[in-house]
Amino acid sequence: GQGEIDIIERFCQLSVVALDNAQLYSRLQDELEERHCAEEALQKANLELERLASLDGLTQIANRRRFDEALQGEWRRMSRARAPIALIMADVDFFKRFNDTYGHQAGDKCLQRIARAMSANAYRPADMTARYGGEEFVILLPETDADGAQFVAHRIRAAIRDLKIPHASSAAASHVTVSLGVACLTAVPAGDPSLLIQLADEALYEAKEGGRDRVALQIFDTDHYPN
Ligand code: GH3
Ligand code: MG
Ligand code: MG
Repeated sequence: GQGEIDIIERFCQLSVVALDNAQLYSRLQDELEERHCAEEALQKANLELERLASLDGLTQIANRRRFDEALQGEWRRMSRARAPIALIMADVDFFKRFNDTYGHQAGDKCLQRIARAMSANAYRPADMTARYGGEEFVILLPETDADGAQFVAHRIRAAIRDLKIPHASSAAASHVTVSLGVACLTAVPAGDPSLLIQLADEALYEAKEGGRDRVALQIFDTDHYPN
């Protein structure tokens, strides 16, 4: 009778609603899953971007940006601890001639090997080797005094000499060499981290003037800080 037809009709309506709900639910699940994947991919991309932004493309060591950040941070940390902080600035000797003699590609390869030798010889957890510019590298050594930093600098000089990369047009040696400027000081909170860079730059200039393929030291006496 009519009653049964009504019940069947009602049942069909409910079935359609249930089916719609199921489809909607499944679509929602898919969308959620998709969004989750997208979020994960975005997070991964961000991490990769961060890594790329702090690494030098050629040598795969820290870049200047990352170094500047580390210097700021270590300066603050060392000035609180009243501990010494050292910086080594290294520059490849007669590198323009190297490129002219062996080509730019060989020059790039040489820089990669030098970067590796440097970071392998500054191995304390807080040490940081970075590419500062073209053929210039910096090594930040927190909690390291002048003797310690000079020791590291000499070890790096030896490591690079031991690479025995031929450099026929160098006036310093028959192999690729570097000049290293070592700076050391005790940081104070009010001080400027750029002082350490300036000091290392002066030491490097001294090493170059002294004949290259050598280490020079500049220390800054804490008494010289303005009161
Ligand atoms: P000095 O001993 O006084 O340091 O002499 P130098 O020739 O090394 O110094 P100069 O500053 O005159 O030349 C630096 C050269 O480094 C010039 C440039 O072509 C080269 N250079 C800089 N960056 C790169 C790089 O990424 N790859 C290569 N292959 N060469 C580079
Ligand atoms: Mg240079
Ligand atoms: Mg040079």
